[in-house]
Amino acid sequence: DLVPVRRALLSVSDKTGLIDFAKALAGRGVELVSTGGTAKAIAAAGIAVRDVSELTGFPEIMDGRVKTLHPGVHGALLGVRDDPEHAEAMRQNRIEPIDLVVVNLYPFEEVRRSGADYPSVVENIDIGGPAMVRASAKNHAYVAIVTEPEDYVAVLNALELNTGSLTLEFRKKLAAKAFSRSAAYDAAISQWFAEALEIEHPTWRAFGGRLESVMRYGENPHQAAGFYLTGDARPGVATARQLQGKQLSYNNINDTDAAFELVGEFDPARAAAVAIIKHANPCGVAVGASLRDAYAKALACDPVSAFGGIVAVNRLLDAEAAEEIVKIFTEVIIAPEASEEAVRIIAAKKNLRLLVTGGLPDPAAAGVTVKSVAGGLLVQSRDSAVVDALDLKVVTRRAPSEAELSDLAFAFRVAKHVKSNAIVYAKDGATVGVGAGQMSRVDSSRIAARKALDATEAAGLAEPLTKGSVVASDAFFPFADGLLAAVEAGATAVIQPGGSMRDDEVIAAADRHGIAMVFTGVRHFRH
Ligand code: 5GP
Repeated sequence: DLVPVRRALLSVSDKTGLIDFAKALAGRGVELVSTGGTAKAIAAAGIAVRDVSELTGFPEIMDGRVKTLHPGVHGALLGVRDDPEHAEAMRQNRIEPIDLVVVNLYPFEEVRRSGADYPSVVENIDIGGPAMVRASAKNHAYVAIVTEPEDYVAVLNALELNTGSLTLEFRKKLAAKAFSRSAAYDAAISQWFAEALEIEHPTWRAFGGRLESVMRYGENPHQAAGFYLTGDARPGVATARQLQGKQLSYNNINDTDAAFELVGEFDPARAAAVAIIKHANPCGVAVGASLRDAYAKALACDPVSAFGGIVAVNRLLDAEAAEEIVKIFTEVIIAPEASEEAVRIIAAKKNLRLLVTGGLPDPAAAGVTVKSVAGGLLVQSRDSAVVDALDLKVVTRRAPSEAELSDLAFAFRVAKHVKSNAIVYAKDGATVGVGAGQMSRVDSSRIAARKALDATEAAGLAEPLTKGSVVASDAFFPFADGLLAAVEAGATAVIQPGGSMRDDEVIAAADRHGIAMVFTGVRHFRH
């Protein structure tokens, strides 16, 4: 199993530790062979080194594109020395065996990261290096392959321990490392191609589904992205028909999905509903007698954020609603269907994307959601809890009025679709303030109230919109402070899961202020 190291081939881009290593090898009587730049560096340090062209009888050509790609090198790396025919072929062709190969590759990853131009990145795709790495690693029965300067010391220690030889076990470990290096190198190259050409990246396929499209980019312009279909027939962004507008971007798809799933919570037979979404959070949701009415109410919640938003509706998009929606810049409209007139109105806005789905998603339907983490996937059943089906418990002395109860249910439906911590103020079937994605519930409460004040000002109203509103919280109030913030803003009723250790304190605070509060027993975290 021991192979004495008599000849080493060194060809490295990263010359860290090279001289010390070469000196130590030479000191052990190992003959050094090397490529252009590496040989120059070794020779400059006063260490004897042969140029690889002596082995190949061929000069380095084409700016170094071809320097080691020659049977004189690859025969030495791949020859099975115990095979008489291989040994004979080596003798006949004067191929000198190489026992140790030290290669690190052209710095493709660094060059790519530096934002170099296309030809420079291409030039930094190493060909001969990986060929030697893979050949040596395959033939680890005879050859040791070192791909990282950090392993030089371990190699020297192993040589010392075995008086100039390396064990098979050690060579195997080096070979395994070499293949993972060449795999990572090729992965980086194919990733770069996927980004440069906007094509599917091979690793994406591991996640399953059928490639629907490759986007210009992902969440940010330097990220590549694709859209895969799972075959789930539910009405939504994946199965929708796009009637007009530019290609949907990665963020568009994500936000449109959030918008349509939210609007699907509202039964079109009971009311028209509109959701306006930005960055996957609603900046306005409302129900009304018509879509036009609901849109006006939803827009009033946060007209500043609604700019450049995604609009989802739960009924046939009619001309009256379309006329209102096109008044401000909107990225996407998604609807179960659209009237011919509505389609004509929207056609005036060339870039505005219009999607029709043929139906609404069932919020109570079973399903799965998937999220990626480093090195894994998290899978869970969809949050199919719907407030109508929940066992609501009045926990305060005062029970909510019918109007309050209706707004509480509305607000809790919306809160399900707001990033945690979620606080939603609602009044008369419309959100008036949404606090999303804060690390503390009291911050979400304050932000929601603050946003409602902005909306009040924008509408030129004297009384804050939160006065006489209701509040929904996606999870329990751990302390009374979040509830008190709502009281201060003028809310009269609260809906929340309950289940905090301090429920009693929170209920007592509600009672002190004459607030009506109901517990749902169900939490709607959304991270
Ligand atoms: P040097 O600095 O010694 O001139 O070049 C070392 C680099 O060249 C190493 O990164 C090695 O992987 C790479 N290399 C070695 N042989 C070849 C070859 O035949 N073609 C190409 N393109 N690169 C090679």
